[in-house]
Amino acid sequence: MSEHADPTTDSALAGSAAAEVAGLSQLSSAALADRYSNSLLGVFGTPQRVLVRGSGCHVWDADGNQYLDLLGGIAVNTLGHGHPLLASVISSQLATLGHVSNFFTSPSQIALAEKLLEISAAPAGSKVFFANSGTEANEAALKLTRRNAGTADAPRTKVIALEHAFHGRTLGALSLTYKEKYRAPFAPLPENVQWIEAGNIEALRAAVDETVSAVFIEPIQGEAGVRLLSAEYLAAARQITREAGALLVFDEVQTGMGRTGSFFASAPVIPDVMTLAKGLGGGFPIGAMIVFGEENTKWLAPGDHGTTFGGNPVACAAGLAVIHTIEAQNLLAHVRATGQWLREQLAGIEDICAVRGAGLLTAFELVSANAPKLVAAALDAGFIVNATDEQTIRLAPPLVITTEQLGTLIAALPQLISAAS
Ligand SMILES: *Cc1c(COP(=O)(O)O)cnc(C)c1O
Repeated sequence: MSEHADPTTDSALAGSAAAEVAGLSQLSSAALADRYSNSLLGVFGTPQRVLVRGSGCHVWDADGNQYLDLLGGIAVNTLGHGHPLLASVISSQLATLGHVSNFFTSPSQIALAEKLLEISAAPAGSKVFFANSGTEANEAALKLTRRNAGTADAPRTKVIALEHAFHGRTLGALSLTYKEKYRAPFAPLPENVQWIEAGNIEALRAAVDETVSAVFIEPIQGEAGVRLLSAEYLAAARQITREAGALLVFDEVQTGMGRTGSFFASAPVIPDVMTLAKGLGGGFPIGAMIVFGEENTKWLAPGDHGTTFGGNPVACAAGLAVIHTIEAQNLLAHVRATGQWLREQLAGIEDICAVRGAGLLTAFELVSANAPKLVAAALDAGFIVNATDEQTIRLAPPLVITTEQLGTLIAALPQLISAAS
């Protein structure tokens, strides 16, 4: 008997799984929404649409409607939907070697780690740990920084995070997240986190002393509505933490991988630890923690941390394909140019009172329109955008989007805004 079942039975089995999905795709959105609510836990509320297909910067719903995706799966779909190279790299890696556990390694894992160290200008001795998501990358970072525990006489027990910070939903990352509404129902969480005003260097200097093990910073606070921190602030954070013996963690889960027009929004400042996820796999789940400098790699020794899926060959092949494509297509320059054009256009629209962002991570604030209402109106008109609060809309489209495509949103916005006012 061969290792695999009879190929004809095999393809019949695969075919029946595919046929089941294809059959569901034929149902109306209303029927699918019903099946969703009967089978999926309600933590996400009601899904806005049932999406069945994507290509480039567009997706299509179960009723055949087309949408321009200006959210990119929340800053994830770096190369857009259905990218042929990404799809072929993923499927050929899966066909060659799909999963092996961390008792083993694979060429794609090593290649992606080396590539991340190269593009982050990591000093010699720096190392990478792979996870599967942003929150897991931050869990790893939090565990690592816990080891910077000081001494019995002078323990370092405090972690500093910023007001409005978002670091994830698992208990450790949640303990750093600012929103009381997210944390309170799950108390007790790891304690001794202090939130300080974002962007205020004096507040940072005052808070970071010899009782602090780590400072966690998003270079741009994405979930908080794309709030930028200055290069001066990031450089000051580097200096202040170094002087106090605290570790500096940059959470680039949302801002990394070219989103802001450079590979990392915090460059050229080099932290002790950087976390990545969202855009890294172009839609395939992967997270990463980069540990900078040999002296920081000592914090986690064999057995101190682990994961079954992290560093999976397929996920790493996807990450590598994303980085190579960004480089080969000179996408960073494209992101800077299209992002700047987008913000200039937005600034010229009446009823938009503030425009913020870097590269293709942008938010704008509405004077009188309601942001969640605008999201609904935009969706009906064929545009996917996101509200981070009642006044603020966030855009994080695929990095391959064109000014022509962005221009269709700009042309539609005045009318959509008045419909949402
Ligand atoms: C999305 C996000 C996370 C959490 O990532 P998940 O993959 O959803 O766990 C953490 N930090 C930042 C800055 C994020 O934007």
